Formats: sequence, C-alpha cells, structure tokens
Amino acid sequence: MTAIEVRGLRKTYGSRSAVSGIDLSVPHGEVFALLGPNGAGKTTTVEILEGHRRRDSGDVRVLGQDPAVGGRAWRARIGIVLQSATDAADLTVAETVRHIASLYPRPRAVAEVIELVGLGDKVKSKVRALSGGQRRRLDVALGIVGRPEIVFLDEPTTGFDPHARRQFWQLVRALAAEGTTILLTTHYLDEAEALADRLAVIADGVLVAEGTPATLGGRAGAGATVSWTGPAGHESEQTADPVALIAKLTAAGDDLPGLTVTRPSLEDTYLALIGEQR
Ligand code: ATP
Repeated sequence: MTAIEVRGLRKTYGSRSAVSGIDLSVPHGEVFALLGPNGAGKTTTVEILEGHRRRDSGDVRVLGQDPAVGGRAWRARIGIVLQSATDAADLTVAETVRHIASLYPRPRAVAEVIELVGLGDKVKSKVRALSGGQRRRLDVALGIVGRPEIVFLDEPTTGFDPHARRQFWQLVRALAAEGTTILLTTHYLDEAEALADRLAVIADGVLVAEGTPATLGGRAGAGATVSWTGPAGHESEQTADPVALIAKLTAAGDDLPGLTVTRPSLEDTYLALIGEQR
C-alpha cells in the first residue's frame, strides 16, 4: 500500500483553478519533493492531503484514509509543518513542545526533539524571543514530536541560514532512515536534490514532470558540455559522449587546459520545464 495516493485532484477558488487534475503516488518511506513556481498549487495540494482544505474532486488517500474525513487517530499519524510560523506565544520552547507532545499517544521525548532541531540552547527561551529561523525550527519540532508516519513539510527551510539548512537536511535523512514518509515542498533545488528520492514539478495546477533528481525531465540523457582553453581561447562543444570527445581531442597528445565537463543542473532542468508552461 502506498502512503499517499492522489488521482485527478482538482480545486478551484471562485473561477480560478489552483489544482487542475493532479495524480501522485508516494510509497511508504519515500522522501518526495514537490517543486513549482509561486502560485503553482503546491500548498493547496499539500493542505488537501493534510485534511486542511476541501477538494472539489478527485480521489485522495493518505495512510489509506480520505483526509477530508480523517479522524483523530489518523491525524495522530501525520505530522505537519505549515508555511506560517508558530504564534509568538508567551510560552518557552520546552513548554510549547511539551504541550503539543501531550496531544499524541506516543510522542518523542521533548528534550530529544528540541535537540534534534538544534534548539538545545533555547529550551528556556520564550517563543516570541526566537529569531525567524529559530521559530521555523520550532515549527519542525512540533511537526515531528508526535512520531508521525508521514511528515508534510511546506517550505521548511525558508529563513534558515546555510548551516541550519544542512542541519535540517540531516534531520530529514534521520527521519527517512527511521522509515518516515516525507512530502516536502521547496523552492531550493539543491535541497530537493539533496533530500528527495523522487520529485514532481507542478506548474499552473498540473504536474509537468516527475522522476528522480537524476532523471527528471530527461536530465540523465541530456548532453554534456565539454569546455577547454584552445590556442584561440575558450572553446566548448555539446556532446552525448564526453569521454569520446575528450579522447578525440587528446589523441594527438595535446593537453586540454581548463577542461570541464558539465551537464544541466537540476535548476537548469527545472527552469526549462516550467519555461515550457509559460
Ligand atoms: P508558493 O510557492 O507561493 O507557496 P503554491 O504553489 O503553494 O505557491 P498555492 O498557495 O497552492 O500555490 O496557490 C495556488 C493558486 O491558488 C494561486 O493562484 C493562489 O493565488 C490561489 N489561492 C491559494 N489559496 C487561495 C485562497 N484561500 N483563496 C483564493 N485563492 C487562493
């Protein structure tokens, strides 16, 4: 059984279509990333999966349950990190995490979760005294404290400094290693590449490509660019077989100073995919 199964999902706001027939299938234990430009329909899709928004039509199952009618027991099995930050309550970090932990049947230890998200030195700080990135870490702590089987992470590292992002990536990997299914939306292509087993690109409410980071949008089969410095200056050539080209170029025993071989980055592929939609 898959963790998330979506068929023909549609949602309109008034006359505007936000999601126009999306199909998705995410197996248990997978880290799946949803990419797409602002307004593509990612949050709408994720919030329908979380049971926070009603769909107009389509079939949706999360842990075998329709989220629109998911009860308390189902809710305890999913973890949610919303885009909006935690309320600036008058509670401390530890009090906030303890409060949310008390809502779940088998929560993680409060101190362990706070440590996991890198807020160990902020345990006694008031939430309103945290920086934006620290608040976001607290959001993540609240999303995982219930030991969920699926975690929904909507742009989880927005506002994180580079070191905090890397720490967060380790946390996602640790959750994945425990078998947690993770659905992530992000605008950071390096984040998607570092974390996702598979990813999908949504544009204008439709899924335009799906694959692994290595194969998305025909990336694996895309040609390489071989560049070097020749007698006349910078030279470069596109090829499907860079090894053969380099062998040919060096057959006469010549050096190839400044030799580089590059393939399209995930960002190049992504921009090409959403460019086709515009
Ligand atoms: P971002 O990357 O900016 O978070 P997104 O891909 O998550 O974007 P959504 O928030 O799902 O996009 O929005 C999809 C479309 O639906 C947008 O055109 C947005 O303006 C519209 N929309 C979203 N929420 C509502 C709402 N509550 N009422 C009306 N329109 C909405």
